[in-house]
Amino acid sequence: MNEARLREEICYFGKSLFDRGLTFGSAGNISARVGEGWLMTPTNSCLGRLDPASLSKVDERGQLISGDKATKEYFLHLSMYAERPNAGAIVHLHSTYSVAVSVLADLDPEHPIPPLTAYYVMKIGQLALLPYYAPGDLTLADAVRAVAGRHHAVLLANHGPVVAGKDLETAVYATEELEETAKLYLLLRGERIRLLTLEQVGELKQKHSS
Ligand SMILES: [Zn+2]
Repeated sequence: MNEARLREEICYFGKSLFDRGLTFGSAGNISARVGEGWLMTPTNSCLGRLDPASLSKVDERGQLISGDKATKEYFLHLSMYAERPNAGAIVHLHSTYSVAVSVLADLDPEHPIPPLTAYYVMKIGQLALLPYYAPGDLTLADAVRAVAGRHHAVLLANHGPVVAGKDLETAVYATEELEETAKLYLLLRGERIRLLTLEQVGELKQKHSS
């Protein structure tokens, strides 16, 4: 996909996420790989009102190449890309249900959301949970790097999800799958539930590994 189209696509998905309440205010950010760097949503921008021409373009150290100043959370994206050379795009949201799960006490860091449905297993697989870091704490970048090679979806405690995909559409759809599964998980808390078995999960991962 050429850069002009990718810029349009970032704005399209930003507005789509905003219009459906998956992001709000100036929360959340989107990035996508281009030839000589990464396109990112600018700092303090509303994903519902992005301008293709003023998206930030940064290099691998986060230095601005062109456009508006990049999101303050640029390092989350770059540390994920550093470990995932095939990732074409990353979505980070403060979406309500995923954040709600991230705030729950006593989550299993290896399985913060259990395998409720086949589509969750196929699109997210094993979600990694990272502890809480204050905004701007750059040591979060190291924590993301430590798990990003094995996990394309990471949930930051008391903060929100970071999800990589081979392209922007894949990353957006996976983020939505995570958000909807987080909602299901919360709806089902206190109910007796049947999870997919280890065997069923294994079969899905074998057939649909991303
Ligand atoms: Zn954030």
